[in-house]
Amino acid sequence: MRLRTVVTRDLPRVLRGCQIREKDPTLPKTASERVRAPEHDDSCPRIGALALAGSSCSELIRQRVGFSDTITAGPVSAWAKGINLTPAKILRGAPVARRIRLEVETAARSFVEETGVLPTLATVLAGNAPPSSAYRDAISHAMEACGIAHVDVLLPVAATTGRIVESVERLNDRDDVHGVIILLPLPPHVHVLDVISSITPTKDVDGISPSSVGRLHLGLPTLYPSTPLAGLEILDHYQIPVAGTRAVVVGRGNVVGKPMAALLTARDATVTLCHSRTVPLEVETRMADIVVLAAGHPGLLHGEMIKPGATVIDFGVNVSSGRIIGDADPESIERLAGAYTPVPGGTTPVTTMALARNTVTAAYAQVAEFQSTTAGKS
Ligand code: NAP
Repeated sequence: MRLRTVVTRDLPRVLRGCQIREKDPTLPKTASERVRAPEHDDSCPRIGALALAGSSCSELIRQRVGFSDTITAGPVSAWAKGINLTPAKILRGAPVARRIRLEVETAARSFVEETGVLPTLATVLAGNAPPSSAYRDAISHAMEACGIAHVDVLLPVAATTGRIVESVERLNDRDDVHGVIILLPLPPHVHVLDVISSITPTKDVDGISPSSVGRLHLGLPTLYPSTPLAGLEILDHYQIPVAGTRAVVVGRGNVVGKPMAALLTARDATVTLCHSRTVPLEVETRMADIVVLAAGHPGLLHGEMIKPGATVIDFGVNVSSGRIIGDADPESIERLAGAYTPVPGGTTPVTTMALARNTVTAAYAQVAEFQSTTAGKS
């Protein structure tokens, strides 16, 4: 790798995305304050007090994006009759993704100027399962939009665990590759733990290796998984408070549910982690200010299962009659929720941007590590 001196003042800014953020005393604290809090996009100041110029922000969103962030409440269900409902706010991912893209683009450009090397992400795909291929293509597209190079490693579906591990180790050894992501699920004959354990921790941009997972749970700095990071980005962008709230995460998968529960806990939410043996689920979800869905089960959450005014973050990606749908039933949820992420158009575009930011963070960290190693030797 050709290196010039790294301007280290950029490092904390770039690393910011993978830190647990400080509490913001200007954010709304109660559910009613939250419902009233104005939406904003990157054209609006993010400081709480200034963002209260809400109506002009909404107008700007309408003018620039061509849609309104709010909807009109429809008829309520029998269960909710008599409750004073406020139209739910739709937490669209596009403005959040756009803001992160601009940050990452700037950081990637600085990295190239300072090192002469493009930040680079490698994807490893075994086989050609359509969802994984589509995710690989989405990643490639997102990286290109941010000025990050993409190395596409494609292995046959019959590739053995050893062969996949060898590919990962080759990427670990390459100075011009800064991040490695394995596209899951791997074929059933592959030992997944062996593969994810082979990613060197500094290149583990999706935070799935045992080392990264352990550091996340210990509250140590590391690269956090991009999907739950995207959930936090959305909550922060729309100024939905997390600290002091009750959160329920539905799904205990290693990629979304478990790390989301850990990140919400680190942000001082009181978190309940639910799964397929949680019976009845609605007893838990009705208690929550924030419900996170990561089950991959379409229509799992109905409006009657949430507290009126709750925020719903839906990570579910399911295909039904050729359409992508989430884990929430959108019609009943939009009548009762205070805010919710739509599917499609909610969490997914933010996930690829969180991955892009992790890649630039990893690239800077590797250069800093390289410099301290060489300084130690001289
Ligand atoms: P996973 O590892 O298969 O985990 C699914 C979890 O959901 C399991 O813990 C399972 O419980 C639980 N579950 C399934 N059905 C349930 C039910 N009826 N009630 C309660 N819990 C139930 O899945 P994953 O990889 O975490 O992915 C979860 C979803 O997120 C999928 O739809 C995936 O496509 C999506 N995803 C979205 C993004 C994004 O950017 N939006 C990124 C990655 C993944 P048990 O543990 O008891 O089996």
